[in-house]
Amino acid sequence: MLSAEIIAVGSELLTPTKTDTNSLWLTEKLNEIGVEVRLKTIVGDDRARLEETIRDALRRSEVVISTGGLGPTEDDITREVSAKAVGRELVFHEDLVEELRERFRRWGREMPETNKRQAYVIEGADILPNPNGSAVGMAIEIGAKFLVVLPGPPRELKPMFEAHVLPTLKKSAGEIVVRRRILRVAGMGESAVDEAIAPIYKSFETVETSILFNRSEIEVHLAAKAKTETETETILEELTAKIVEQLGVAVFARNGELMEEILGELLTENKKTLAVAESCTGGLIGERLTDVSGASGYFIEGAVVYSNEAKMRTLNVTAEIIERFGAVSAACAEAMAKGMRERAKTDYAISVTGIAGPGGGSEEKPVGTVFIGYADEAQTKSIKITLPGDRYLIRWRASSAALDYLRRQILKSSSETVK
Ligand code: AMP
Ligand code: MG
Repeated sequence: MLSAEIIAVGSELLTPTKTDTNSLWLTEKLNEIGVEVRLKTIVGDDRARLEETIRDALRRSEVVISTGGLGPTEDDITREVSAKAVGRELVFHEDLVEELRERFRRWGREMPETNKRQAYVIEGADILPNPNGSAVGMAIEIGAKFLVVLPGPPRELKPMFEAHVLPTLKKSAGEIVVRRRILRVAGMGESAVDEAIAPIYKSFETVETSILFNRSEIEVHLAAKAKTETETETILEELTAKIVEQLGVAVFARNGELMEEILGELLTENKKTLAVAESCTGGLIGERLTDVSGASGYFIEGAVVYSNEAKMRTLNVTAEIIERFGAVSAACAEAMAKGMRERAKTDYAISVTGIAGPGGGSEEKPVGTVFIGYADEAQTKSIKITLPGDRYLIRWRASSAALDYLRRQILKSSSETVK
């Protein structure tokens, strides 16, 4: 597999206000044709450091792509520095100056003399035309290595790369395609997931697997390499099926879907409706559910019932429950879910009540204590969980846990009706 690295040039990219997005886009394109990006560097407009970076890159990687620093001004140094780094001269191209003059004329302007700098090209390089700007790109073979020098503005770089670089790279990359897939797992920790599935994914040598923790869930990232797209898909399907067989219902998404999207599909498929009563999540569950287009087909109502009084007035939670067990309790969560379901006349209702912190915890109910209630036609029940994290994470994790609890109940009841 061809190895590549990307060098993003520009001092502005080292400030907090400007992000290097070119390398993200390039990485996606390169991965699609089976070229692996092993490293990327951001260098300011600094001659010495850029020269060193280009030299190092050409030593390490087969393909080196730089972006930015091809403008006409003094701080745009990529042209000169890359020529120096590969030990070649810059050659002046009269025809490029003519093209530039013509371009300026069409804009009704005179070409400033400084733009002549953009007519210099590294000796022996292919010129990559730029229909969207004044800086041409360059592609040059240095021994067995391939250096590509692209302009910085994304709207200039993208069409140039697709038209003049991608086809060449695709040929040298050979017949390898890479396809990625993300599986999401709820209710298990990172190491537990890894322990369970490592023997499986390790037996798939053409797939690179990585396991990541993301706020409230585990993501399993798969990248399969093969000769054709169909082959990569078959491999991904096979590995996914084995992982799902091992982890069971904990895998909620096989194709990168979000929990709220999966729930939407489940509710739609089963023609069921949902209402939500939220205390410590303050509407987060409702927000996540309604982020999904088509939510109006199953999501009927949500209530943010933050105070005891609101829980009683809106959901008929009794004063006795609040006094005896407290608002953060199994009894209250269940009364909230039941009250919500009766009020909204839905098939399901879920509720959340807990302590998001940082204040408000006690020995008996520390910060992170969350009760999730569930009600359907036949039953009302709840679970208690203890979540780690700051206020933001506890609220997010509580919302995810509630959605997952509902998902598991729906799966259980739909498999029961099948039986
Ligand atoms: P330059 O070619 O260095 O003159 O860059 C021109 C403009 O392109 C910059 O002002 C940025 O707005 C944009 N640009 C340069 N490099 C990048 C990058 N790596 N990612 C996104 N935008 C970039
Ligand atoms: Mg720049």
